[in-house]
Amino acid sequence: MSIFKEIKEIISEIESNLVEIRRDLHRHPELGFEEVRTAKVIATILTELGLTVKTGIARTGVVGLLEGAQAGPVIALRADMDALTIEEKNQVPYASQDKGKMHACGHDAHVTILLGAAMVLSRLKDRLPGNVKFIFQPAEEGPGGAKPMIEQGVLENPPVDRILGLHVWLDLPAGQVGLKKGPGFASVDQFDLLIKGKSAHGALPHQGVDAIVLAAQVISALQTAVSRKLDPTEPAVVTVGKIAGGYRRNIIAEEVGMEGTVRTVNPAVRTQLATTFKEIVGGICKAAGGDFELDYREGYPTLNNDDAVVELIKEVATAVVGTDHIIEPDKPTLGGEDFAYFLERVPGCFFLLGARSEAKGITAPHHNPYFDLDESVLALGVEMMVRSTLRLMEE
Ligand SMILES: [Zn+2]
Ligand SMILES: [Zn+2]
Repeated sequence: MSIFKEIKEIISEIESNLVEIRRDLHRHPELGFEEVRTAKVIATILTELGLTVKTGIARTGVVGLLEGAQAGPVIALRADMDALTIEEKNQVPYASQDKGKMHACGHDAHVTILLGAAMVLSRLKDRLPGNVKFIFQPAEEGPGGAKPMIEQGVLENPPVDRILGLHVWLDLPAGQVGLKKGPGFASVDQFDLLIKGKSAHGALPHQGVDAIVLAAQVISALQTAVSRKLDPTEPAVVTVGKIAGGYRRNIIAEEVGMEGTVRTVNPAVRTQLATTFKEIVGGICKAAGGDFELDYREGYPTLNNDDAVVELIKEVATAVVGTDHIIEPDKPTLGGEDFAYFLERVPGCFFLLGARSEAKGITAPHHNPYFDLDESVLALGVEMMVRSTLRLMEE
């Protein structure tokens, strides 16, 4: 029997178990750096499989090492483990049992797929030409678990040669795989801005400095900066997501606070936009006799896939789902993903696994209280991960 047929057989053997694991994790969502129960579930399974397991990396992270019988490269596979502060509205038997917390991004599926890959690969251990490191990472949704895990040496001992990650994706139907060379996800920066004016009676605006008018000017100027100061072929977004200020209808507001996010793909544009942002805020506030406090923080960097690795994963996807089920977007998404930090250190690929099913009514977007995923993709995700690992070991 070919190894690929054997892989398929093992997966069909464990598939119902995988669905159970995913549903168990879905019932018990845990937020970033609080994934204590999730980490325990993972560590128990990996230990039973005979892997060398380390826990407590970046607080709740778990790493399992599977040593193949033959010497070869070290391939790392990564899953994120955290849930979101969203109250689930799905009426399903496996709905969240923890009010206000929900696996609304599919990280429960990522953990399950990686555990499935560990189950399959440990059965092939005797024929494995290399080692596999399974990385279970906390807090992808923020503030980020990838960076502290790397700082604690997760890519060393043994050093990782190639790394793979995936995300279940509701924009793609189940059965499709999304692959992109080069940049796949945006860099994500954040800002908190406090605009300071001077209060006065609403009928005497000339005696004050209206923080609300300044805020309005700042917001429009920021949007104009994106459309007029940046190269229009370079993706960039400035979103003010929250704004608050003022006392009542007839008082000139003294302060307006706002918070938002800035996303770019090109690092030069990222730097340029940060500078322009500060100039606009400073210029407008100063011209009006106001002041400001700005906290502008760099978050996740742009996620860059390695072109050669993407080619290999495409070969695997062609065998697993067929050419007509491979989607290759020509543009990155402006979402963020802290797998980017791993890809800064090690060549690899982060691919998308379609999880939408119109027939099953599974169509809600990510981070939505009705989010769910077509569980048939768990088996597919395992097959993609296992075969990609073998393919990378051949190189
Ligand atoms: Zn998410
Ligand atoms: Zn996610």
